[in-house]
Amino acid sequence: MLELDQVETCYGTIQALFGMSLRCDEGQVTTLIGRNGMGKTTTVSSIMGTLLSRSGIIRFDGEVITGKPAYQIAQLGIGLVPEGRQVFPNLSVRENLIATAANYAGSDDPWTLERVLEFFPRLSERLDNQGNQLSGGEQQMLAIGRALMLNPRLLILDEATEGLAPLIRQEIWRRLEQLKNSGLTILLIDKNIDEFAAIADRHFIVEKGQVVWQGNSDGLTADAELKARYLGI
Ligand code: ATP
Repeated sequence: MLELDQVETCYGTIQALFGMSLRCDEGQVTTLIGRNGMGKTTTVSSIMGTLLSRSGIIRFDGEVITGKPAYQIAQLGIGLVPEGRQVFPNLSVRENLIATAANYAGSDDPWTLERVLEFFPRLSERLDNQGNQLSGGEQQMLAIGRALMLNPRLLILDEATEGLAPLIRQEIWRRLEQLKNSGLTILLIDKNIDEFAAIADRHFIVEKGQVVWQGNSDGLTADAELKARYLGI
């Protein structure tokens, strides 16, 4: 569904991606993992079109999206839960959910406000609270709900469980597993390897702007040297 082929991206004269190649297959959960500063968020920005890649090709559903403006890429059916959540602080939970809602990809069974509130019952208790009045976990649920309201075919989560308490993290993993079981394709960036290994199909480890290892969860969890070398665990 998504394919990056030898993508190079820079911030001015500083190069951050050095031939990033990865793929997300339909209906699977794929992870992009690596230590801080290795290029994960830059990869996400390159996919979403908020950073222009200098070379390489990015395809979504067979269509080249490199160079397209971010709004067109979102409209093709890629939903993003950004690093740091970035919910609209001065909008209510309800407003956050409906402000950007759409069904560009033409889903037959689209996400609606009611469905999102059923999926995250905690949000229904906070419907009239502003984004900045929510806990970190509630903000994360809101960020995921807001992305679902775009009815994406691919959902990208950048550090979805960062800084959350273990119980909330577990709830987020359960929800992501449900989304996977419903057929959604997911690209996950996270550090809690042991927790996501159970739901993920394929992993890509990134080091200095390129993929240095790829494999399945068994391969990742079994290889202590791999984890120590590239993830510092
Ligand atoms: P983290 O988990 O800390 O977010 P990351 O793997 O997502 O790390 P990136 O944020 O993609 O890493 O950063 C990749 C490289 O690009 C780093 O060397 C970083 O210093 C550099 N970089 C990131 N943002 C900028 C920027 N706005 N200007 C210049 N260099 C940047």
